[in-house]
Amino acid sequence: MTCGEVQPFIEDYADNSLDEHTKKQVKEHIDICPDCQGDFDISVSLKVLLRAFTTEEPECDYFEKATSLIIAKTSSEASKSEEVH
Ligand SMILES: [Zn+2]
Repeated sequence: MTCGEVQPFIEDYADNSLDEHTKKQVKEHIDICPDCQGDFDISVSLKVLLRAFTTEEPECDYFEKATSLIIAKTSSEASKSEEVH
């Protein structure tokens, strides 16, 4: 396979959605071709980023909950220390 032949498959290869035969050919090329290896790395990184963005909502929610918990804790501690004084 040449770079031009491998390029259209790189994203699917990163997705692991290629059939075994094509996957083997793409892998064999990526193993010996630093250029396509680089493109493959970028594809994988983008997918990781994309996944991070997809799960952003629950993380935001978690962050909000954590923040309100911290605020609740801080204000209860503040009122506690007010009671002490
Ligand atoms: Zn190549």
